[in-house]
Amino acid sequence: MTDRLPCRSEGCAATILPATAARTGGYCMPCKQEMERAERQRYIEQNRRDIDLYEEITDPVEILKIMHAPLKRDPLIRYIPYPLKREEVYSALSPGEADRLLTFALDLLEAGDEDTCQEILVSLVCYQNKSLESCIPTLMERGIYYPGILFKDASARSRDELLQQVEQDKDNRNHLLLALGWIGDDQVVYQFQEWRTVPPSWAEELYVPPEAYAHEGGWELTKKGSKRPLLYHDSYAIAKIVPSKSTYAAEAEPAEFLKENSALCPWCGSGLTTLTDLDISHPKLHFLGLTGERLRVCTCVNCSCYDTIYMDVDFHGKSEWSQANIKPEYLPEPDSEEDDRSYAAAGQSLRLADHPRNSYYAAYWTLGPAVSQIGGYPAWIQNAVYPSCSCCSQSMTFIGQLDWEQIEEYGEGIYYMFLCADCQVTATLFQQT
Ligand SMILES: [Zn+2]
Ligand SMILES: [Zn+2]
Ligand SMILES: [Zn+2]
Repeated sequence: MTDRLPCRSEGCAATILPATAARTGGYCMPCKQEMERAERQRYIEQNRRDIDLYEEITDPVEILKIMHAPLKRDPLIRYIPYPLKREEVYSALSPGEADRLLTFALDLLEAGDEDTCQEILVSLVCYQNKSLESCIPTLMERGIYYPGILFKDASARSRDELLQQVEQDKDNRNHLLLALGWIGDDQVVYQFQEWRTVPPSWAEELYVPPEAYAHEGGWELTKKGSKRPLLYHDSYAIAKIVPSKSTYAAEAEPAEFLKENSALCPWCGSGLTTLTDLDISHPKLHFLGLTGERLRVCTCVNCSCYDTIYMDVDFHGKSEWSQANIKPEYLPEPDSEEDDRSYAAAGQSLRLADHPRNSYYAAYWTLGPAVSQIGGYPAWIQNAVYPSCSCCSQSMTFIGQLDWEQIEEYGEGIYYMFLCADCQVTATLFQQT
């Protein structure tokens, strides 16, 4: 038997074979590898250069072009990030700049870079609400029908072509229907109604009836066949503020977030959470069209991940667990360790932005926008789901969403909030990233 030697590293208890010691200079393999890693790191730090791709560039269009260009990955290069986020640069574009970017996107398409083109076009719609009417024929020529939001301002002519194509084009039918849902003009509403009355032969190949695609565009077909919008065009971001003690004045905020509630969840027994507490009499929230003082949207943040949760409300602050809630078959065991309420503290640093933002700002989740908002279009992570009111069974109206990533360090997923104002019922649901 060979005698093993102690590793030369101070504090390392490992022993090694003499043969290993000869190879490594007396160190065990983990120690040797750690030394090599540290050496590499030292080399990188000593030789790394900072590169500012945006140096002396002031034209926002050029800045966005750089942001969209692929970066050469090199451990010896540290790219200095631009001080503004992409969404901020987009939001501040002038109409002329937005036009130039649109032209650039179409040039990319011409050159075969469909993905970047699509990303720029979607950004222009979401952050600028720019109409893409002029380039829709080009997209269609190239067989690009996705994402549907690109088509929302389609001309009557493009819409008619889409309506024709959806009858024949089995491969693209799902995307074509999404695009039509986004267009949602009188002709589309009429056609959805026709399809509901006499389902086309291809309808059985779909997971949902054709008229259900209206949800993707944020509306539903009423029983009488008209269009009923399911959201508000006004939209205010829910932003994080750094509370400064000296200047903090207890000014009346139109909205508060993530307040603990004394009522317990009948399913899991943990405390309910008021996701948002809205002062509906505040001028900023008049767009909700509600008469009263307060609308509170409560839920169980645990159980909401498993099913839609309804609450009976009034517009004076009441929010009670609805008898219409049906306990799902599966709920995880409540875990008291996990049930810390640290997010309640995070809620205190959230407030409604001073100025409204574009309705579609967060409508395309994969762009990575700041999602949390009251009003506007939802940022669906999965398919669009507007819950049916537990009382009247109409689709409920979207009133806001909270992005858990913004709230907890390792948080993810979005809580969506809905209201049926007629029945005074709220609903919350959750989608996981
Ligand atoms: Zn060692
Ligand atoms: Zn619960
Ligand atoms: Zn209702």
